[in-house]
Amino acid sequence: MKRRIAPLLTLLCLLVSLAGCDLLSAAPPDSGTPSAAPVTDGSTLAVHFIDVGQADSALLVCGDDAMLIDGGNVADSSLVVSYLDQQGIDQLDYVVCTHAHEDHVGGLSGPLNTCTVSHVLSPVTQYDSKAFENFVKYTEAQGLEPEIPNPGDTFDLGEAQVTILGPVAEYSETNNTSIVLRVDFGATSFLFTGDMETKAEKDLLDQGADLSATVLKVGHHGSDTSTSYSFLREVMPEYAVISVGLDNDYGHPSDDVLSRLRDAGATVYRTDQQGTIVAVSDGTTVTFTTEKDTAPTPGRDGQTSPQPSQSESAQETYIGNLNSKVFHREDCPNLPAEQNRIIFSSREEAVEAGYTPCGNCKP
Ligand SMILES: [Zn+2]
Ligand SMILES: [Zn+2]
Repeated sequence: MKRRIAPLLTLLCLLVSLAGCDLLSAAPPDSGTPSAAPVTDGSTLAVHFIDVGQADSALLVCGDDAMLIDGGNVADSSLVVSYLDQQGIDQLDYVVCTHAHEDHVGGLSGPLNTCTVSHVLSPVTQYDSKAFENFVKYTEAQGLEPEIPNPGDTFDLGEAQVTILGPVAEYSETNNTSIVLRVDFGATSFLFTGDMETKAEKDLLDQGADLSATVLKVGHHGSDTSTSYSFLREVMPEYAVISVGLDNDYGHPSDDVLSRLRDAGATVYRTDQQGTIVAVSDGTTVTFTTEKDTAPTPGRDGQTSPQPSQSESAQETYIGNLNSKVFHREDCPNLPAEQNRIIFSSREEAVEAGYTPCGNCKP
C-alpha cells in the first residue's frame, strides 16, 4: 500500500493545482458511451501522453492501477522510466505494445526492466527487429509472455474499463496490426489506435464496433493514411491528441488530418506543440494540463475559445446530420440536434463524406 501513496499524492496535488488554474474543460458530449456507469468512488483516470517526439507513449493511471501503452523509440526508454518514477509508478498492471514498430515498442524495454509488470499485450509474439527481440526478452525476464488480445476482451483498470476493439483481421502491413482499445471511465472515454491506417479503420467500422470517444489518440502521428472522415464520424472526439515530433521527416501531422479533425469539432493537442499532455477525467469531465504553455487548436465549434470572427462571405460552413447523412447550410431551419451534427467546411467535403443536401440547401 505504501508505494501507492506517492502517486496518490501526486495526483491530489495535480487536482488541487488544476482547480486553481485557467484550464480548458468541457462537459462530455451526449454521444458518450450510453451504458456508462457513474464513477462512485471519487477516483479519477489520468492519461499522460508522454512527449517522446516522433513516437507514441501513454501512461494511464486509475486508482491503484497503471497501464503503459507504447514506450516510444529505444532512445526514449530512459525518459519513460524516469517519467514513471516521477509519477511514483513502479508497478504496471498492463504494458501494451500496440505494434512492432520501433517508435512504439522500442522504449518498452526500460519500464519492463524496472517495473513489476502483470500483463504484456502485443499483436504478435515475433518480429524481426532488435527492438522487438529486447521487448520479448524483458517480458520473459518478468516471467511473462506477450499475450495476443482478441477483439471484445475487456479488463478493469481501477474503476475504468478497457475494451479491446482491434485488430479485427490479419494484416501484412504492420501499422494495421495495431491493437485498438477504448478506455471507458464514467461517461468519458479514450480511444487508442496505435498506427492503424484507413484499411483497418474501415474493417473496424464494418464490424460495427462502438468507436465513440471523448478523447482520440490520433492514429499514426497524424499521417494522412489514418483518421478518415468515416472513422472520425463514428468516434466524434471532443479532443484529439497527436503524438508527433517537431519538424519530423514525415510531414506529420498532415494538413488534411488537421482539417478533418477541425471539421469534426475536435480540439487538437500535439506533443510537438504542448509537450507532455495530461488529460484527467473525473468520469464526467476531461481536463487537460500541458507541459508547454502553448494553447491547443480549438475545434470549429470553438469549444475552448471563441473562433476569430469571419466575414460572412469568407467561408461557408455546412452542417450534416450524422443519422440521416443529409447536410444543411448554417442558416437552414432544418438543422439537426446538436449531438447529431458534423461540420463540413465546404459543400465538396460534405459530398465526399457521402452526405446529400437537404431540399432547402441544394446549390
Ligand atoms: Zn508504426
Ligand atoms: Zn508510429
